[in-house]
Amino acid sequence: MPKLVYDFTEGNKDLKGLLGGKGANLAEMTNLGLPVPPGFTITTDACRSYMADGSIPADEIGTHLEKLEAAMGKKLGDPDDPLLVSVRSGAKFSMPGMMETVLNIGLNDRSVLGLVRQSGSERFAWDSYRRLIQMFGKTVMDIDGDLFEEAIDELKAGRTDLDLTAGDFEALVGTYKEIVRREKGRDFPEDPKEQMELAIKAVFDSWNAPRAILYRRQERIPADLGTAVNVVAMVFGNLGMDSGTGVAFTRDPATGHQGVYGDYLQNAQGEDVVAGIRNTVPLQHLQEIDPHSYAELMDIMAKLEGHYRDLCDIEFTIERGKLWMLQTRVGKRTAGAAFCIATQLVDEGLIDLDEAVRRVTGDQLAQLMFPRFAADHGNTVLTRGMNASPGAAVGRAVFSSARAAELAAEGQDVILVRRETNPDDLAGMIAARGVLTSRGGKTSHAAVVARGMGKTCVCGAEEIEVDAKAGRFTVGDVVVQEGDVISIDGGTGCVYLGEVPVVASPVVEYFEGRPSDDELVRAVDLVMKHADARRRLDVRANADTPDDAARARRFGASGIGLCRTEHMFLGDRRVLIEDLILAGTAEERQAALDALEPLQKADFAGLFAAMKGLPVTIRLIDPPLHEFLPDIIDLSVKVATGKGTKKDRRLLEAVQRLHEQNPMLGLRGVRLGLVVPGLFAMQVRAIAEAAKAADDAKPEIMIPLVGAVQELESVREEARRILAEVGVDALIGTMIEVPRAALTAGQIAEAAEFFSFGTNDLTQMTWGFSRDDVEAAFFGTYLDKGIFGVSPFESLDRDGVGRLMRVAVEEGRRARPGLKLGICGEHGGDPASVRFCHEIGLDYVSCSPFRVPVARLEAGRAALM
Ligand code: ADP
Ligand code: MG
Ligand code: MG
Repeated sequence: MPKLVYDFTEGNKDLKGLLGGKGANLAEMTNLGLPVPPGFTITTDACRSYMADGSIPADEIGTHLEKLEAAMGKKLGDPDDPLLVSVRSGAKFSMPGMMETVLNIGLNDRSVLGLVRQSGSERFAWDSYRRLIQMFGKTVMDIDGDLFEEAIDELKAGRTDLDLTAGDFEALVGTYKEIVRREKGRDFPEDPKEQMELAIKAVFDSWNAPRAILYRRQERIPADLGTAVNVVAMVFGNLGMDSGTGVAFTRDPATGHQGVYGDYLQNAQGEDVVAGIRNTVPLQHLQEIDPHSYAELMDIMAKLEGHYRDLCDIEFTIERGKLWMLQTRVGKRTAGAAFCIATQLVDEGLIDLDEAVRRVTGDQLAQLMFPRFAADHGNTVLTRGMNASPGAAVGRAVFSSARAAELAAEGQDVILVRRETNPDDLAGMIAARGVLTSRGGKTSHAAVVARGMGKTCVCGAEEIEVDAKAGRFTVGDVVVQEGDVISIDGGTGCVYLGEVPVVASPVVEYFEGRPSDDELVRAVDLVMKHADARRRLDVRANADTPDDAARARRFGASGIGLCRTEHMFLGDRRVLIEDLILAGTAEERQAALDALEPLQKADFAGLFAAMKGLPVTIRLIDPPLHEFLPDIIDLSVKVATGKGTKKDRRLLEAVQRLHEQNPMLGLRGVRLGLVVPGLFAMQVRAIAEAAKAADDAKPEIMIPLVGAVQELESVREEARRILAEVGVDALIGTMIEVPRAALTAGQIAEAAEFFSFGTNDLTQMTWGFSRDDVEAAFFGTYLDKGIFGVSPFESLDRDGVGRLMRVAVEEGRRARPGLKLGICGEHGGDPASVRFCHEIGLDYVSCSPFRVPVARLEAGRAALM
């Protein structure tokens, strides 16, 4: 039989999984010699077996209760001198306010009189008793808590709880019992042991309360952990004005600064502090109220910080001048404070730099990199959408890419508002401060592109009706015209009318190379330098323009891991690619390619200049050709109404000819290179010529969508020949994004000098999820049902996609020792995915320029875990 109950003297802080956070830390404090009321913890194992068969380890609990009674010299609910206990939940991960606690167990009509005699306070004893019935009624017997609240409010009749007399509380006990009887058709249980047992079961049950389930889902806490239960001898903060209860932090959770941060409430118990029944006083006042307890508390907090080597929060109670510790844990903090506290602790000699890097996360860093709205700005929310890409953006609403670019060129801030965006909106997205869409989820075009650009985006704000032609959108009867100022918060998904004040991120300023003596910036600098020193993974950037490349370099990228060339064919150059598609003869085709080549060469020259001396991986054209053609419906209408030119008619034919049911699985990537003669050759030549002309260029040519080594071989041969002709060296490698490529990586590695995992497509094809459709269609259901805790497009699916990656890494390296391995999907900037890439031994991750610092930090953390 496993041990299911632990005395506080038997546990320690590392047993959170078994004893829950509260129990483990109560044990730790007990063993540190701090004043903790005695008690014991019923383990999460016991919770799991209770959930399986409804049993609780009654005998073991009985034995520990006897020990507790012996230690206190009182018996539970003894009519003459009752021991009272609290029954408190406490899971491995803190779930604030989600689960239950019942105080004052052991009181009944007889023991309340014993408590009167022992304490010498009638008022206290009856107050404690009514609290028991109230908490027990609500949490154990499932009675609407408002009924009790209403009864006490009625009794107070405008007085505060301090004005209530012993007689009032005694009357309230009567009223409360009446409520129990009326609501449940049974009496409040007077038997102390029964009270305790029912309370323990209620705590176990609260693990599966709807709000707890919801909270766990949001916080990604596994559903099968269960909660522990702590049974703790009661101490009393409601014994008079020399008693009280409080909460405190060992330092400021918003800044990390040392000082006294907490609240105290005299003559009160338990939840009164947070419930706000009366105004609390700042903890500093305790120095006058009870200097002795105050000094002891300060001493204990210093001790706890030294011991946990971190910011702790605590809950305490003072009973007639005697201080008791009721809870501690490593405290939650803001993202900024996390960095400041970690470096403060380094300065104070409590932790080393390795530990400081472990203590902060990439998500926290990412949060600090977005501009934000000033706190308490007071504007009201117009509507909400999905928080697709964080940050705060203010600008005039515009409804087309062209208008966005126009106004931006005049120096105006604009927000691009679209039903949904497509590749043609790119210029507008670049010009805009932020993007707002009424359709589409977190992996919609708008969301993905905005995240990549580090641009604020709220998407899928469904209450919005966009009328782009009329130049306005409406939410109910609110009309927003083009030019009206709106503000969008990509962190919360909120949309506001008018201008909400924005503050820039000092952390981004720092990465951009503008120094500051801001404490946060100093902390980030220290942590980043150390993460860089520790990491094994290189971090590259996905960048298509010299500006992006330059920014990536400033942000610490050691190369470009993915330059997409398709963006280079949009805008003015669209006509050239149309010519290519419409070419009827080999000569026409070659003429179109010849026109494109110098433009491409200039594109690459810009990138090589920005990345001088660093590797630049250029992916040959990947998307299906019809993406470069006008919309089929627009064209059909034009042609049908006789407004189309001769070229329009030819374009329409081409669109119809190239139309695919399933373009993601159609004619694209290497397939295009094999089918359209000269296309890849033109790109390779442009790369080679640009590299040759550049100072210290390190090109790497990447072939997309390869599934068989034969595809790669055939393209490679031609590329090799062109490189030799120009006289330039370049690595030639492939994306691994088709499952077959991963499964035949050994063969493919024979022909590839590097692999780059394209995990967007690899995820799409491994799961069979059409990325553009599934999010809106059913990801909500999948997340709700817990089929996955997070979208596999956001965070790498280790079991499935990850397994393919492992296979490819192993077999690829076996076939070609020294094969360079990287990742360039969206996952390259996701913290958990970066850790996975470290684990499986990739050489680098590549992500959008704004995620580069996040990936650097997470790569450092991965090396230190
Ligand atoms: P939560 O997890 O919601 O913080 P707790 O189990 O910590 O719930 O209980 C809430 C409050 O009840 C504590 O902060 C403390 O003030 C009070 N409390 C719990 N156990 C005791 C006890 N044994 N003696 C006195 N007060 C207690
Ligand atoms: Mg607590
Ligand atoms: Mg791809």
